[in-house]
Amino acid sequence: MITMKEKINMTLRIAGIDHEVKEVHDLARVDGATGHFDPILKEIRIDEDQHPQEKQRILLHEILEAVDREFYLKLDHNGQLSKLDAALFQIFKDNPQLLRLFLDEKNGND
Ligand SMILES: [Zn+2]
Repeated sequence: MITMKEKINMTLRIAGIDHEVKEVHDLARVDGATGHFDPILKEIRIDEDQHPQEKQRILLHEILEAVDREFYLKLDHNGQLSKLDAALFQIFKDNPQLLRLFLDEKNGND
């Protein structure tokens, strides 16, 4: 059985740069945040004690933090960035056919 930890520990290419995604023990207790994007190490850390669905939302949030940084968007964190992560997460959850469309090789995936 593949655990959530094994699934979420991955390398994500964002803006052409490999970013490591890692579940971290006690992140929330030590860091005070359930997720963290490290722009120097190009690393996304997620607190391992969060609910699986919350980890997905945190991952999306931290991906947007990386996009904000790498594309110099300068989004307002608690306003624009957090609303964008909530909106995109809801769209992905409500429309699984959208992700299947992106995965479908016949639709231009190489
Ligand atoms: Zn944040």
